[in-house]
Amino acid sequence: MHEVDMTKCLLLSMNQWQQQHAPAIPSVQRVHLQVGAFTCVEPDQLVFTWGVAVQGSWLAGAELVIETVPLLGRCLQCNGTYTPSPEAAYRSPCCDHPMEEIVSGRELRIRSVDYSLPEPPPSRPDLSLTAAAAA
Ligand SMILES: [Zn+2]
Repeated sequence: MHEVDMTKCLLLSMNQWQQQHAPAIPSVQRVHLQVGAFTCVEPDQLVFTWGVAVQGSWLAGAELVIETVPLLGRCLQCNGTYTPSPEAAYRSPCCDHPMEEIVSGRELRIRSVDYSLPEPPPSRPDLSLTAAAAA
């Protein structure tokens, strides 16, 4: 269910992004998403949910590429960074300090979008020129 809500948020962001290009509708190949390891999002599940949600929409066929950002904590005792683990109750290995600051691992953001904009329609032939040539 978590992933369904995440997908709705993503689609909302993408729809807003599309508005910036209106009236053109960008053709999106890939959406690069950063997902923190501490967000409890299952990447495979998110990709699946995304694939179902975009069917029949302007985003149909757009691939969701997930980059996992590792969980990194900062020890407020010695200011060092460390990888918190559930086995150690997320305490810092250096000072055995409880985790109070998360440096990374809670991201859920669109890093970039691979897309192309449709070509502008070809201009009409210049009628005055055609008339001059015929004369
Ligand atoms: Zn420390």
